[in-house]
Amino acid sequence: MLWPMDYLSLTACPTCRGALTSRNGSVVCAVCHTPYTVQAGKVFFTDVPEDYEGSGVTSTQNHGTWSEWRRKNFLFYKRELADISSSAAVLDFGVGPGQFRELTRRFKTTVGVDFRAFEPVQVVADLTKPLPFKDAAFDVVISSNTFEHLPNTEEILKEVFRILKPGGVLLATIPFMMRLHQKPYDYNRYTHYKWEWLAHQTGFKNVVVEALSEPRDVYATVQRHFYTYVISSVRERSGMLRLPLLLLVKVLWKCEQMKIALLRRVYAFPAQTPDFTEGYALVAKK
Ligand SMILES: [Zn+2]
Repeated sequence: MLWPMDYLSLTACPTCRGALTSRNGSVVCAVCHTPYTVQAGKVFFTDVPEDYEGSGVTSTQNHGTWSEWRRKNFLFYKRELADISSSAAVLDFGVGPGQFRELTRRFKTTVGVDFRAFEPVQVVADLTKPLPFKDAAFDVVISSNTFEHLPNTEEILKEVFRILKPGGVLLATIPFMMRLHQKPYDYNRYTHYKWEWLAHQTGFKNVVVEALSEPRDVYATVQRHFYTYVISSVRERSGMLRLPLLLLVKVLWKCEQMKIALLRRVYAFPAQTPDFTEGYALVAKK
């Protein structure tokens, strides 16, 4: 299957920035002649790593299965994309299984890039390396829960800046108080101060970083992870104490959940605070 021709005009050779051309079903750099494999409508600029531990996210667009964090990510992108013209060229940087595709479908051009060949990916690339796109190729880059998986944040922000048009916008959501995931590719949890500094350092303007979830979301998520962890370690035990222990832990968890429910009734939780959030939403203009 040929790679869709309309993407070729946005791409560039990651090795030499030369223009790419389509030849005999593969993609070739016109300058250094490096060939890149095309398979099932995806072009491969890298080999797919084998030591990747998936996050277990298989459900893509069923909102009913989403965590509070994902729901708030969705609402952020929905709000920010609402005023952007449908003629925009949008890059979904780290698109994954494409949970937010219903928000990007209306755009004339949407390119998905990731280091694995997920279904909505057209460009398979190592996101820690120079990106296979031309300068000023995109109006919008969206990046949901991707930057924590890149060790060289400053370099990659520069790459994102390079491929945005002047006036283009980066919309990103980034975890803060969240457990490790997609191991071993999990490298950082920066504060909002660091994100503001990084964005300004890169050259972005109108930088806004907001807390995306509430303190109670953080608490409920940590509690769920903690009890899930305790229950699985009790399950691995043998002997007579295993069942009573399991029962005790489950009762304690239920009590904790009731405590949060009670707190909700008697105390109006503070809204978002950057001090105590599962993560941030970043808006930055080139
Ligand atoms: Zn080249």
